[in-house]
Amino acid sequence: MAEPLPSASIGGRPPDPQARERIVLITHDTRCALDTVVDLVNTAPEDDTAADGLPDVATLTDFVHNHEISDVGVLSDFDLSAVRKIRARFAAVFAAPDARTAAGQINDLVAAAGTTPRLTDHDGYDWHVHYFAPGASVADHLAADCGMALAFFVVAGEQERLRRCEAPDCRRAFVDLSRNRSRRYCDSRTCGNRLHVAAYRARRKEAAG
Ligand SMILES: [Zn+2]
Ligand SMILES: [Zn+2]
Repeated sequence: MAEPLPSASIGGRPPDPQARERIVLITHDTRCALDTVVDLVNTAPEDDTAADGLPDVATLTDFVHNHEISDVGVLSDFDLSAVRKIRARFAAVFAAPDARTAAGQINDLVAAAGTTPRLTDHDGYDWHVHYFAPGASVADHLAADCGMALAFFVVAGEQERLRRCEAPDCRRAFVDLSRNRSRRYCDSRTCGNRLHVAAYRARRKEAAG
């Protein structure tokens, strides 16, 4: 299982143990799907000069393996291009200005993928629902299960927790699981810490001068 997303660890505060319970719908699969969709969106090149984080089928195969995406057969160039298209559509959800916009985007994603909700308790996990249709391509699998994970955030009135990092030159996607929805920076490149250190040094300098 993927490492849990860091939550509320920016700015030297200890992680908030209750932050997760506050979003009642986060089951193991929602958690995995969130980690997966954030990682997927963040493989997109940040500008024209940057390299794509999913350059070839081998990298996509690694991604599928690392995120324990089940029931996916041998991958092809078709899968790669389909996943990149899905990635762009998920990126748009993280940039959505409001819940209505996100809801429309998520509806389109999930509808195009087709879903077959079914209960499962695989691998010793408690009962939970899988959404991807049997035999779904990896792109449809991601669209269905990650799409539904994001749908639950909209249902819970928590769409604004789906964020883009506000650090200059960043814009990585992340899910803000802090108690008061106050996270502005991703952890992936320690943007928050970097900016906090800069602010701290500036204050010190001011105090010393
Ligand atoms: Zn599962
Ligand atoms: Zn960042």
